[in-house]
Amino acid sequence: MTAGLPRFLAVDWNGTVVPWFGEAAYPDALAVLHELRAQGVHIAVVSHATPREISDDVARVGLEADEVLGVGAKAPSLIRLADLWGDGVMIGDSPQDSRAAIAAALPFIQASLARVAHTSGRTWWCGILTAVSGAIQCRAGFPGTSTWNLLCLSAFSVS
Ligand SMILES: [Mg+2]
Repeated sequence: MTAGLPRFLAVDWNGTVVPWFGEAAYPDALAVLHELRAQGVHIAVVSHATPREISDDVARVGLEADEVLGVGAKAPSLIRLADLWGDGVMIGDSPQDSRAAIAAALPFIQASLARVAHTSGRTWWCGILTAVSGAIQCRAGFPGTSTWNLLCLSAFSVS
């Protein structure tokens, strides 16, 4: 486990790793997730989908994740992950993702990849390694869910 990294990363799928089921992953998304996993971060894909639907799509793009969860609501899964692993970060693109992260008291990093040039995915995912450790530092320095969620959101933006 590398210092400064969370114990787990909960990752939304559509709009975050791929634009949508069946489409190619954003540039560097898989490499960054594999790098975090190699550094000991538990990677959990949490998607609003059926278990079969999300498992098939994760396998299709070749992402090696520790857990792949197809759920109706994400908050219970995030709360379970937080209970099990402690410090974690949620990455997602939607207000529902943000609300689920807040429900589980997790820092939230917002992907803003939809409808932007494909190369922006590379910039965004390359910055995730820094953003994830930054989110943990935000949390340590500024307790209080709303405060550190806002700080974590502002700590990183697509360039
Ligand atoms: Mg999404």
